[in-house]
Amino acid sequence: MLLPATRDSIARAAVLLRQGGVVAFPTETVYGLGALLFDARAVARIFEIKRRPSFDPLIVHVADRAMLGEVVAAVPAAAETLIERFWPGPLTLVLKKRPAVPGLVTAGLQTVAVRMADHPVARALLEAVGSPLAAPSANPFGRLSPTRAEHVAKMLGDRVDLILDGGATKYGIESTIVAVEPRPALLRPGAIALERIEAAIGPLERTGRTSEVRAPGQLDQHYAPATPLRLIDPKLVAHAERLRAGVIALQDPPEGYSASRTLSRRGDLREAAANLFEMLHELDALGLDRIDAAPVTEAGLGLAIMDRLRRAAS
Ligand code: AMP
Ligand code: MG
Repeated sequence: MLLPATRDSIARAAVLLRQGGVVAFPTETVYGLGALLFDARAVARIFEIKRRPSFDPLIVHVADRAMLGEVVAAVPAAAETLIERFWPGPLTLVLKKRPAVPGLVTAGLQTVAVRMADHPVARALLEAVGSPLAAPSANPFGRLSPTRAEHVAKMLGDRVDLILDGGATKYGIESTIVAVEPRPALLRPGAIALERIEAAIGPLERTGRTSEVRAPGQLDQHYAPATPLRLIDPKLVAHAERLRAGVIALQDPPEGYSASRTLSRRGDLREAAANLFEMLHELDALGLDRIDAAPVTEAGLGLAIMDRLRRAAS
């Protein structure tokens, strides 16, 4: 459903979000597809709706400093300078995340990308929800980012709970993404010129990778478990081989493993995606010799789950 952004429709969008819904909304860069940050199942729906075959980290939107404090563990001095200079505005900062930020939002990384948008609808929505939102661009995988509500309606119309129409976006290109630690670096060029950022905090390292030309999921910074992981049907693994190993499966992992994780007792891929990164981290922390991961069906979110497991296995 597409509604002009008004006080009423924004209030309605906030209710939908609080119930675990997914809502498209305008920002000054492009339209975003938002879900409650702290509801990993709602975040899993974003990937489902975008039909993303991999889990890339999402940008988190905050309305104010209090919300920023719910998301990041610390704000280093360089970030403080950039916040004062450019927020609200089209600058995304990559900072250390708080433990409560779901692993699905950051693709298992310990850092999180945050921004404070300068668009009256985005701001009003965040204030009405009272919680940070995870929101990537509101386009299906491999398509152009939407700069009008009609683009979203055409590409995702029947799959999102509500589209707030705030007209054409001002910049029409994505936010500039900057990491401040360990050294300030440009992760993606965007709406704020690099020169302006360098004038504020000095030279940035250029990683040479832009998310728009890069194949999806090829983020060079990706969480990989330290424990060797293999994709295998754990039911076929000999009992002696299970003793010092962990197992992760969608449903019913077999007995005899030293540690085991069930992604979703009901076999629900959305719930499985929501649990995936936390469970991998938990198993990884146990000092096991190996993790056996049972393959899942490659349909819906199963595709992205398998992509992640294959990367972890390679
Ligand atoms: P989008 O939300 O679609 O505008 O794009 C999000 C992009 O932000 C990702 O594809 C990454 O390139 C980048 N990103 C988000 N979180 C991180 C992070 N923690 N570290 C590095 N890059 C990130
Ligand atoms: Mg995008």
